Formats: sequence, structure tokens, C-alpha cells
Amino acid sequence: MSRFWSDIVSQLTPYVPGEQPQISKLIKLNTNENPYGPSPKVTAAISTANNHDLRKYPDPNAAQLKATIAKHFKLDDHMVFVGNSSDEVLAHVFRGLLKQSKPLLFPDITYSFYPVYCKLFEIEYRLIPLNDDYCIGVDDYALDNGGIIFANPNAPTGIALSIEEVETLVQRNPESVIVVDEAYVDFANDSAVRLIKQYDNLLVTQTLSKSRSLAGLRVGIALGHADLIEGLERIKNSFHPYTLDALAMAGATAAFEDNDYFEGTCAKVIATRQRTSSELVSMGFDVLPSSANFVFTRHSEHGAEELFRALRDHGIVVRYFDKPRINQFLRISIGTDDEMNSLLSVLRAIMSN
Ligand SMILES: *Cc1c(COP(=O)(O)O)cnc(C)c1O
Repeated sequence: MSRFWSDIVSQLTPYVPGEQPQISKLIKLNTNENPYGPSPKVTAAISTANNHDLRKYPDPNAAQLKATIAKHFKLDDHMVFVGNSSDEVLAHVFRGLLKQSKPLLFPDITYSFYPVYCKLFEIEYRLIPLNDDYCIGVDDYALDNGGIIFANPNAPTGIALSIEEVETLVQRNPESVIVVDEAYVDFANDSAVRLIKQYDNLLVTQTLSKSRSLAGLRVGIALGHADLIEGLERIKNSFHPYTLDALAMAGATAAFEDNDYFEGTCAKVIATRQRTSSELVSMGFDVLPSSANFVFTRHSEHGAEELFRALRDHGIVVRYFDKPRINQFLRISIGTDDEMNSLLSVLRAIMSN
């Protein structure tokens, strides 16, 4: 506390990210990073850009990156927004599109940054409980609202809502923006991006942090109707016009150009996820059906907090949320096959004690 803090700073409860322990040899399965590293073309592009002229400001409009992304998604350049991480893109979305006189709706269990932004930007919100099976119930959103946001696949459950159901929400709420946070969509079967050209009230955000293995580069995107994108540009250009640095733009452009590498690593993560899920089930775990690069799992005889601590003692870090409804679950990121084999054998050892 300081007497110099504004009222809003005094009242904030900042988001707490998963830890980044500075210990080597740890198996790190707590923040949904990709175990395979970015495409070699990304690192090459960043090196080339580094030899370039960092003396100059980067293109504030990120035109080349936007054109590459637009081509990838078969959209117009004006339907693409880029930012310094999807967390930053979401900040602009909350402030620019979701701060309305009616309350914003989102699930009680979803990305825990959303309530933090609501407090920061003074947005009224209402939590809609997930169903007993941890799915989003589309009919529960039939309420007067100033916008709806959810992660799809959802986090930390990993469960995906079908794109038909996303479309139902978009159709039922023509006067609100529906924001679909697709941070994990590349590990799922379908994306709402294919609906964008039909609806002016749908905004999709994605990140290069997970499926493209660039959490350290900080690049996020939003895709939607040109008017929604222009709203985001107005905020961004009133806040930080050079949001993406020259190295990030070069790396992100190369990432979208190397589709083969991207598809190959996503396929490997998905295969490892399926194998890990079956192994966990055979050990008595209940595993929610995951369309992401993590699994959300619980065991009827072993408490999640106890397993979390025991795993940590064995050098394996996973994520545990001490929150109502989910404090019996562990969220385990999908690593390499070797890492998952270590996880499974340590779990077997812990549970046989
Ligand atoms: C990881 C994550 C983000 C943030 O991604 P960054 O681009 O790294 O900021 C946003 N939404 C969800 C649901 C996430 O899991």
C-alpha cells in the first residue's frame, strides 16, 4: 500500500501466472508451453531481422505480418489485428468492445484473466456456471448482456464447445460482441474463424504462444469484422502504437509461413495427449475430454493438492488451482513423450505408497 496509489490500483487483484522456476532439469508441465520449440525458420528470420536496422522504429501497422495472417486465414487484411501477446489484445478488447452499460457474461470457470481485466477497466460482469460436466451451456447465456467472452477450447477444462453452438450464441446476440478466445484451437477440430465473414459481432483471438511455440516472443492476434478491428486499432494507437517490435514481427511472419512445421508439431502434441489421457484413465483418473495441449484430471482417492506437491518433490511441476469447483483437479500440460512417461511413472510410484 502506498498513499500515492490511485483508488483503482489499491483495489486490484492482479493475475498470477503459472510459475517459471529457474531450476534446470525440472519437467515443466504448468503453463501449457509447447515442448517442441518454434520452427527453425522463425529463429532464422529473427536473426536476419537482428542484423537489420534496429535503430529504426518498426512498422506501427505491422502490414507485412497482417497480410501474412490474412492470407493464412483467407481473410481481408482489415480483418486482422496484432498485438504484443493475446493478453494485450484481450486488454484492448475488454476496454474497447466489452465495456458496455450491460454486464459482460463469461463462465465461472474459464481463463482467470477475464475478471482481472473487468476490475482494471471497471466492467460489470456476471459469471455463468459451467454445467455439471464442465461444459458451457449455451442456453444459460440467454440474458441481457453487453458482450460474451469464453475460451474455446475452454481453459482449464480443455473442453471445446462445437462451432455450431458458438454460432447459436452469435446469432442470438446480434447487439453484443461475442469474443471467442482460441488460444488452444490448433489442438482442436474446428475454429470459429470460418464464421467471421458472416457475422459482424464475432471476434476471435488467438496466440502464437502455444501451438506455434513462441510464448517468449509475445504475439497475439484478433480476427473479425473490419469495424471491430478498427475499434481495437483506435485503442492501440491511443496507448502504444509500436506494440510489436521488429524481431517479433519477423518471427511471427515466419511462423505463419511454415505451416508444415506447425501442423507436424500440433499433431505430435495431440497424439501424446491421447496416449497420456488413456494411461491416466487406466490408473483410475477421471480425465475431461481435452481439445487442448493439456489435460484436466482428478482422482477419486488422491487429492489434487497432495498429488501436486508430491509431483513437485519429484521435479515435475503441474498447475493446481485452489478454487471452488476445480480444487480436485490438476491441469497437466502435454510435454514430449519422454516427459509424459516420467510423469506417469512418478504418479504410479506416488499412488502405490
Ligand atoms: C495462454 C492464454 C492466453 C494468453 O496468451 P499470450 O498470447 O501468451 O498472452 C490467452 N487466453 C488463454 C485462454 C490462454 O490460455
